[in-house]
Amino acid sequence: MLSREDCLALDRKDLLAPLRGDFDLPADVVYLDGNSLGARPVKARVRAQEVLDQEWGRGLIRSWNSAGWFDLPLRLGDRLAPLVGAGPGEMVVTDTTSVNLFKALAAALHIQAQSQSEAQTQTQSQARDASPHTEATAQAASAQSTPRRRVIVSERDNFPTDLYIAQGLTHWLDRGYTLRLVDSPEALPAAIDDDVAVVMLTHVNYRTGRLLDMAAVTALAHACGALTVWDLAHSAGSVPVDLTGSGADFAVGCTYKYLNGGPGSPAFIWVAPRHMQSFSHPLSGWWGHASPFSMESDFRQHSTIRSALCGTQPIVSLALVECGLEIFERTDMGAVRKKSLALTDLFISLIEARCATHPLTLVTPREHELRGSQVSIEFPHAYALMQALIGRGVIGDYREPDIMRFGFTPLYLRYVDVWDAVETIRCILDDHAYDPQATPGAVT
Ligand SMILES: *Cc1c(COP(=O)(O)O)cnc(C)c1O
Repeated sequence: MLSREDCLALDRKDLLAPLRGDFDLPADVVYLDGNSLGARPVKARVRAQEVLDQEWGRGLIRSWNSAGWFDLPLRLGDRLAPLVGAGPGEMVVTDTTSVNLFKALAAALHIQAQSQSEAQTQTQSQARDASPHTEATAQAASAQSTPRRRVIVSERDNFPTDLYIAQGLTHWLDRGYTLRLVDSPEALPAAIDDDVAVVMLTHVNYRTGRLLDMAAVTALAHACGALTVWDLAHSAGSVPVDLTGSGADFAVGCTYKYLNGGPGSPAFIWVAPRHMQSFSHPLSGWWGHASPFSMESDFRQHSTIRSALCGTQPIVSLALVECGLEIFERTDMGAVRKKSLALTDLFISLIEARCATHPLTLVTPREHELRGSQVSIEFPHAYALMQALIGRGVIGDYREPDIMRFGFTPLYLRYVDVWDAVETIRCILDDHAYDPQATPGAVT
């Protein structure tokens, strides 16, 4: 078993160690919540000042052109793309993950319904050629309004907003779409059949930290003629992602988690190039127009990924996303992944060795290929223990029911931080230094 000195030695050898200097972290905190809100890049303060003083203060409206504000969602998309295996011109940073998921899911359902109605038009015209005015033609015409593929597959344990968005969209479409929720990833093969229009999944589960095999699930979906929408909220910047290589169709994700973009920073949306021509969504705002400043009364969709934009962008927040992305350009996801697994392995083994007498249950898979960059631990008084930990400067978070989440961001976390976090957990447990009556606040 490693000692604290061993951990310090690991830090001295760590090639990512210098990147910690790119973040502003309080000295008395071990930050294990980068999976919820990443730490602040040092440059974010300078950049915010620049946007406020120069670009907004001095440049005023001219900055839409002169400071590159108008193109910022695309520039950031291009900068983020290599982290998730996407190419230039394929993604934008805009809106929230929830809103982007709405757009991606709507686009995928639309593509499915379109390809079906094209097939039907062909059948119809064949039927008309054979015998005009038959019952078959009438049936084919009415079937057009009800898509044949009406099932969206997801996980019951998916992040709630993903399920809520799917529920909201299908309710408002009112075309007979249903949500088919599986209770574990093992049930996906049986759930994906020819009725499925879209498989909508989160790559790394927010509660358990379990990682799905994107290429395998995508292949499964495609074999049944279904499209995939991937939520990368907990994988962008935390595990290597290969959207192109996996054959994925659509993807969305956060920038305020492992990408360190700042609280509520805009999310991203990616459309596979092969779908770009048929991509469309209901939020057809002027920023997605082919020529926004022509001020035409009819919507004409932009031919590029710009059409994923809706309205005017939150520039101050958007600008800071770049500070987080810049840091990734000084390393690569292979190195990040290697350290992430080393940190989570260390945390798991120290917890099991040093807190063995306490009822802590590991929820996150031990297998590397099934693990994201977080470790979730079940404990009967999880909320109370997490509050006590936060009180001592070890910051993780709590998720229903009885789960403590610890996120490991290799860019700024040290091996010794892991050691100190486990030692703090051990002390609190040994001394029963937590209040089982503690009740959750609005944000847990
Ligand atoms: C964090 C997270 C979100 C958050 O969505 P917002 O619209 O940014 O609030 C969505 N989906 C998943 C899977 C998440 O982990």
